[in-house]
Amino acid sequence: MRLISAPKFMVDNNVGKLAKWLRIMGYDTLFFNGSDDSDMVAAALAEGRVILTKDTQIVKRRVVTSGQLEVILIQSDEPELQMHQVIDTLNLDCQFRPFAICLECNQPLLERTKQQVKDLVPPYVFQTQSQYMECPACHRIYWRGTHWQAMTKKLNKFVQ
Ligand SMILES: [Zn+2]
Repeated sequence: MRLISAPKFMVDNNVGKLAKWLRIMGYDTLFFNGSDDSDMVAAALAEGRVILTKDTQIVKRRVVTSGQLEVILIQSDEPELQMHQVIDTLNLDCQFRPFAICLECNQPLLERTKQQVKDLVPPYVFQTQSQYMECPACHRIYWRGTHWQAMTKKLNKFVQ
């Protein structure tokens, strides 16, 4: 675990699928869907985020060439290869903090007891799962079901 030095990300909308994968791994990741790159650069600089983009203009900016802001220029159009590039470049830990961040809104998830989610999850889930997390923002409930397992399995393939 390297909680203190864990990178935070700003994902440009031209590589938007990376946001979900980075959140699955537990990395604080914002998705930029504005139209002005300067806003993205300013926000990333203010919050110490690494920008992930396919936009070659961004890496020419002074804040990037001077080393103030880190930008990874994504090469591939394939989300899986894009993840490979990010993981390799920053030597990311794929088991960093799985199941810790809402995939939709990037909020840290809160643990919930089985009783607390009784009326919020499908009955078959309630019967078979014992660990639950809730997003404080969108109130989505997460559990380690088959969907989760499929995602972590795919994630492990990225680093092989
Ligand atoms: Zn949420």
